[in-house]
Amino acid sequence: MSSPIVRTVGDLRAKTAKWHAAGERIALVPTMGALHRGHLSLVALAKETADRAVVSIFVNPIQFGPREDFNLYPRDEAGDLGKLAEAGTDLIFAPDVGEMYPPGFSTRVNVGDLTDDLCGAARPNHFDGVATVVTKLLLQAAPDIAIFGEKDYQQLLVIKRLVRDLNIPVEIVGAPIVREQDGLALSSRNIYLSPAERKIAPLLYKSIAEIAAELAKGCGADATAEAGRFKLEASGFRVSYVAVRDPGSLKPLHGPVTQARVLVAAFLGKTRLIDNVPVPPTSR
Ligand code: AMP
Repeated sequence: MSSPIVRTVGDLRAKTAKWHAAGERIALVPTMGALHRGHLSLVALAKETADRAVVSIFVNPIQFGPREDFNLYPRDEAGDLGKLAEAGTDLIFAPDVGEMYPPGFSTRVNVGDLTDDLCGAARPNHFDGVATVVTKLLLQAAPDIAIFGEKDYQQLLVIKRLVRDLNIPVEIVGAPIVREQDGLALSSRNIYLSPAERKIAPLLYKSIAEIAAELAKGCGADATAEAGRFKLEASGFRVSYVAVRDPGSLKPLHGPVTQARVLVAAFLGKTRLIDNVPVPPTSR
């Protein structure tokens, strides 16, 4: 059986209002489509934690830079609908750009602080675009819970902050990263990798897992991160950052650490990959 799909805010609200009136809890999983097992793990969590699982599919133009891959971003609505039906999704919200950003749309949500650094430094305006669309989706769907992957760790913290700062009545839940057998974090962008790049790609996870293990042994943050960056560059990555940060504030940490997050962003050819792991490390 296919899952019902709505394309307008009016139709979305009509459905979710009925569920709320019946006392049901709603979980929202925002996505940009081209769904893989990582996304589907969020849908499974939505179904476990709420009565109704709503998934949005929207490739959000305002979070892409002018030289980024908005036009080329993978889109496969027919494939996504099949996967979401199989996962037991209660409702799919797939608006077009005009529904989300009608003529004259000019508002931006700027979270500040957390968004200045790391991916925010490498991708100016990216987090304003993310914060704006997520704020809209939360107001449109009015979920009780919204689920985001730790894969986009900085994004998860940005969304937690915006919900707190703007008093949006929703619980933000982070879900663990789903990986390939060889450690590569699943991403819609992995299909851009050439066969040769795909072979190198797992080193990204391997290197941050090694950094996390070294840090857990008491090694200093700066030297360990620098050695990791060097190894990645030597393997063919163009590294944007390898960073050891406070897991809550993302502030830089120096010297030995007890609790941290190791975050990396690097290009393989034209493809930008990101990943992160906790310190102390968890087994996967
Ligand atoms: P995207 O479609 O890339 O915008 O991702 C939609 C949601 O899926 C975000 O909350 C991501 O963090 C999450 N996600 C993407 N890849 C993974 C993964 N490998 N494991 C878990 N969650 C993921």
